[in-house]
Amino acid sequence: KKVIFSGIQPTGVITLGNYLGAIKNWTRLQDDYNCLFCVVDMHSITVRQDPALLRKRARDLLTIYIAAGLDPEKNIMYYQSHVSGHAELSWILSCFTYMGELNRMTQFKEKSAKHGNNINAGLFTYPVLMAADILLFQSDLVPVGHDQKQHLEITREIANRFNNIYGDVFTVPEPYIGKVGAKIMSLQEPTKKMSKSDENPNGYISLLDDLNVVKNKIKRAVTDSDREVTYSEDKPGVKNLIDIYSSITGNSIESCMNEFQGKGYGDLKRIVGEAVVEELRPIQERFKDLQKNKDYLDGIIKKNGETANYLATKTLRKVQKKVGFPVRI
Ligand code: ATP
Ligand code: MG
Repeated sequence: KKVIFSGIQPTGVITLGNYLGAIKNWTRLQDDYNCLFCVVDMHSITVRQDPALLRKRARDLLTIYIAAGLDPEKNIMYYQSHVSGHAELSWILSCFTYMGELNRMTQFKEKSAKHGNNINAGLFTYPVLMAADILLFQSDLVPVGHDQKQHLEITREIANRFNNIYGDVFTVPEPYIGKVGAKIMSLQEPTKKMSKSDENPNGYISLLDDLNVVKNKIKRAVTDSDREVTYSEDKPGVKNLIDIYSSITGNSIESCMNEFQGKGYGDLKRIVGEAVVEELRPIQERFKDLQKNKDYLDGIIKKNGETANYLATKTLRKVQKKVGFPVRI
């Protein structure tokens, strides 16, 4: 079986964008691949976090993974910070990454514009840590949204560079981009991606939002002054709602457009709102049940962390030997 690696930062409660762009696609992969789904808490401290809140969000995120249908017996789901190999490999890889390459990363540009008072080195080397995450497990495929494509390209660069010097050490990963739902936009600024760290909560739907709040956020979503439901780049707000609907129902854009034929924005928002609410309802119910089961979750975290650590160490020892570090006896 091929290996798949993916992760989400516990920087907030995950959004409908993360769910449709990432987790929902992952649930379709778990039977056919060996999957690792990581809670990348080390990435999240590139932006200042409240420690108690970060810890809570990391646990909630792992719980959401399970609640959304990822099976902890089939997949390795763990905290990045519990596997020290991520940091160790990241250091080595940083010595095979050029400043110029990192300078071109759009996420760095966007995040440093947003967090101008804290443009730290970790924010700059974020893609190197991400490369380490992926290469540590010899991943074949990485399901990522469009926003992470550039980071995957640099991962491939680094892997190839390393392999050219030391022989075939790393599997060079391929992107795995789901057809629909690859990019869900903000409900308030539909030309920007929906993001869980947006300061305006009306821009995103959190997976744990009260279901009435969910409906209202969709009702208030920015569209335009027109009335006709059409699917085009000129109408990013309307297009986004249709994308969300298509992604949830699994129906093509064409078939969704047939459904909206002759309907106005009010109907569109009501129909999409209901679809989102029904998608989230069972996830929220399972989330609440899981939260009550502390021992079960603790067991999963421990067992999966150990498995990830075992696999990570295998690659790490190989890499350390290749670069010339003394072998441990
Ligand atoms: P942050 O604002 O803290 O960066 P984020 O919402 O961008 O949060 P990440 O943890 O950076 O979330 O990304 C987790 C996964 O979700 C990645 O695979 C990413 O491609 C995907 N993703 C993020 N935002 C969207 C979106 N708007 N639409 C679809 N997929 C998304
Ligand atoms: Mg992000």
